[in-house]
Amino acid sequence: MINFNVPPYAEKAMGYIQECVKNQKICGDGLYTKKCSEWIEKKTGTAKCLLTTSCTHATELAALLVPDIGPGDEVIMPAYTFVSTADAFVLRGAVPVFVDIRPDTMNIDEKLIEDAVTERTRAIVPVHYAGVACEMDTIMDIANRHHLAVIEDAAQGIMASYKGKALGTIGDFGCFSFHETKNYSSGEGGALLIRDEKNVEEAEIIREKGTNRSKFYRGQVDKYTWINYGSSYLPSDMNAAYLYAQLEIAEEINDARLAIWNRYYESLSPLAEAGKIELPMVPEGCVHNGHMFYLKAKDIEERTALIDYLKSNEIHSVFHYVPLHTAPAGLKFGRFHGEDRYTTKESERLMRLPMYYGLKLDQVDYICETLRKFYQ
Ligand SMILES: *Cc1c(COP(=O)(O)O)cnc(C)c1O
Repeated sequence: MINFNVPPYAEKAMGYIQECVKNQKICGDGLYTKKCSEWIEKKTGTAKCLLTTSCTHATELAALLVPDIGPGDEVIMPAYTFVSTADAFVLRGAVPVFVDIRPDTMNIDEKLIEDAVTERTRAIVPVHYAGVACEMDTIMDIANRHHLAVIEDAAQGIMASYKGKALGTIGDFGCFSFHETKNYSSGEGGALLIRDEKNVEEAEIIREKGTNRSKFYRGQVDKYTWINYGSSYLPSDMNAAYLYAQLEIAEEINDARLAIWNRYYESLSPLAEAGKIELPMVPEGCVHNGHMFYLKAKDIEERTALIDYLKSNEIHSVFHYVPLHTAPAGLKFGRFHGEDRYTTKESERLMRLPMYYGLKLDQVDYICETLRKFYQ
């Protein structure tokens, strides 16, 4: 069976974890947490990176940092996303206002956002699907004119960029995921990227249970105390050690994923040209990271048949997401603004092919050949 995903692993991880254990230093904000944050800061150019226990938690932390986001406030986002994008704001009592996506990138349609802005809108949450950037110039312009915060759900976007800027660094806050299904993983983990220095101190406090312990560790205060509300969003240093080994070879992992992506794209282009399937589109100015390779079948029936056919040929492929506005919690907490022209229709056609660091190009060839057989 060719798996859909195999979590990334780098050789040096074992030694790094052993070092944490031997030194009995496994709590949060240790050596490897520092190394990971500094690596991300250097690589992306963000003012500050704070490692978190997940991207979900990074988004929660961001939601707590947007001034006065509370009951009845509105947050604009696509319905075609993972639940965490909405959960972080629903926890604050805010209403997710779902806007339709563009069928070419599956990202929020930037042209429909402004019409969804009301008196109660506080933030926009673009999701960079498959590591392909949303149209950030337009989104930032709307946000600036209406004084809205922008929180980038860049869970899939590490190592990708928009017009030369790393994803996660363009909005006020950016959120990365290191879940085992992502390009770099610590099993469970994430990071919050903070664009402006002025938001760093409050973020550190909220992440450390509402205390100024981060300042205390740096020797900037001689005792620490309860300053604000907060929670605990620090991962164990063992998780960071596992992650750091991958970050050290980030380029190699990225190149390998792009090689797989390009092989799929080239091999499947004839099927796309024959009008059998649709392939992903990467707009000009966007550099992606090979996070995902998807294709679109004609409709949901064909997709189901295709997934079954691949399975019978030992290939595991998957689909996602069920649009949030059609889910029980989405119906309860959110609303869809405007017409659902593409969100549901396109989500029903999309399927993801195996993609992971370590997948062999001849396995990709076999998958493509199997797809061609299905369409013969
Ligand atoms: C994976 C993912 C998340 C959640 O990440 P966790 O680290 O598992 O919390 C959020 N949003 C998107 C778009 C994702 O793909």
